[in-house]
Amino acid sequence: MAGRLPVVPRPEADERLSSWLTRLAGLYAMPVDALLGHLGVGGTTVHDLEWRLPEGEGASIARGTGISPEELQAMTFGNIVPDARMMIAQRNRYRCPLCLSDTREAGVRRKAAAFPWTWRCPIHGASYVTSTGAELESLLGNERLAALDRHAEHGAARLSAWVRGEDDGDERVPAVPAMLDLLTARHRKPSPPSLSEQPRMSLQERRDNHAFLTRPIVRQALTVVVPEYDLVAPVLTKPVRAGLSSLATASLLQAYALAVGIGRLAEDPVDPVVAVLLASDAAGEGRVRTVLRKWPLTSRRCVYARFWRAQRSERDREAALKAARGPQSHKLRFSQSHYFRYAVS
Ligand SMILES: [Zn+2]
Repeated sequence: MAGRLPVVPRPEADERLSSWLTRLAGLYAMPVDALLGHLGVGGTTVHDLEWRLPEGEGASIARGTGISPEELQAMTFGNIVPDARMMIAQRNRYRCPLCLSDTREAGVRRKAAAFPWTWRCPIHGASYVTSTGAELESLLGNERLAALDRHAEHGAARLSAWVRGEDDGDERVPAVPAMLDLLTARHRKPSPPSLSEQPRMSLQERRDNHAFLTRPIVRQALTVVVPEYDLVAPVLTKPVRAGLSSLATASLLQAYALAVGIGRLAEDPVDPVVAVLLASDAAGEGRVRTVLRKWPLTSRRCVYARFWRAQRSERDREAALKAARGPQSHKLRFSQSHYFRYAVS
């Protein structure tokens, strides 16, 4: 067993074990695997160690570095529920422009930055920037972002509690995985980009982009619960993966929209779901109903009662209009069927 390393930098606040070990290896100009071998924990990877740090390995690293086993444990994701492991990115998901120019921060990766619902740097408060240079302000617009932030923060808080095993839902609000199943449910059959989703094009451009204009796009409940996302998301990257994978693989904009959706569903687990059912087609309604089987009974009963009432009043309204005006044109019937769109507060 090798002795204690002569120089060991202190871990930064909320720093990940893999980040600190990589920095330490850099200081001694050796690959991180070689450092692990030197510390007596060879044959494993930094990512496995920071997921679950066994007591023996923790003690070996503590002996070689002088950092206590408790402090090392706190740098791991040891308190994260297994279902959430796929949410943890190996590198920072986005970058903070201020961390980049701060030499002290160079190479430091924090635990919070591994999760898709951290969109501002915990140290500088600056908005994270994606690899294409976009941040939430430019993707959503300042005004829309300010209106959505409350729901997004609520959603992020629920997600953070869920990954630590501290939030499994209650008698009204379902657990996070059930909310993600609802948000990613395909409530309508795939359809090509609508006129409002298409960029302005000349006739020639329309001919050249026939494949894009006729490509069926997956339609998910997320766009009903968070219509602001539906408005700004590029049509080809509007769909997200199903269930928990949606967040694990989400872009910055997608992750933000999913957190807003979770926030809204946690605040009101009934009305947004009724709106989804009203916007669904027959097959989509079946898929949404399947997802709702995992929802608390109290909320599910309220959803179906309000859905039934809304359908009945729509039928009554249609019948009254029909009686008053005689046979209707196709166009009018279509606009009435969209009467019960979910109103955004
Ligand atoms: Zn920063």
